[in-house]
Parts: sequence; C-alpha cells; structure tokens
Amino acid sequence: MKSVLILIAVFFIVRALKNSLEAKKQMKAPSAPPQPKEPTGPPREKAEEMALDPVCGSYVPLSSAVKSTDSGKTVYFCSEDCRGRYES
Ligand SMILES: [Zn+2]
Repeated sequence: MKSVLILIAVFFIVRALKNSLEAKKQMKAPSAPPQPKEPTGPPREKAEEMALDPVCGSYVPLSSAVKSTDSGKTVYFCSEDCRGRYES
C-alpha cells in the first residue's frame, strides 16, 4: 500500500517537473533574443560624386576637384593647370 502512494507521489513529482519544463520552454521561445542579422558585406562606401574636367576629359571627385565658376556655372577641374587652360 505504501509503495502505491510512493508511486503516485513520484508520478505527480515527475508530472510537475515536466510541466515546469514545458512552461520554461514556452517562456523561453518568445523571449529568445532576436538574432542580429549580420550585414552581408562591409558597409558600402558612399560613392563620391564625380565631375568631368572639360579640359582633359578626366573625372575628378568633387571633394578634390579644382572649382571655377564660368558664367554662373561651376566647372570642376583635376588640377590648377587645367583650370588655367580653361580660363585662358
Ligand atoms: Zn584635367
């Protein structure tokens, strides 16, 4: 008779443990931290705008271009040399 009680007690303990495990699983699933998506490559460098040098026909990045204003229009050159030739 005692062994039956023990069996019943064990059954309830096991069931309680299983229930707590299930509860943990259910709680864990939604609270799992979202996997941060790794960027598929290095951050793309912002393409610099290029300007056409009308004298020698080469493209120069605006940041390093030699600027000149010709009749209200900004003209970009690769060097002071090209600007001098354009203005002359
Ligand atoms: Zn040039």
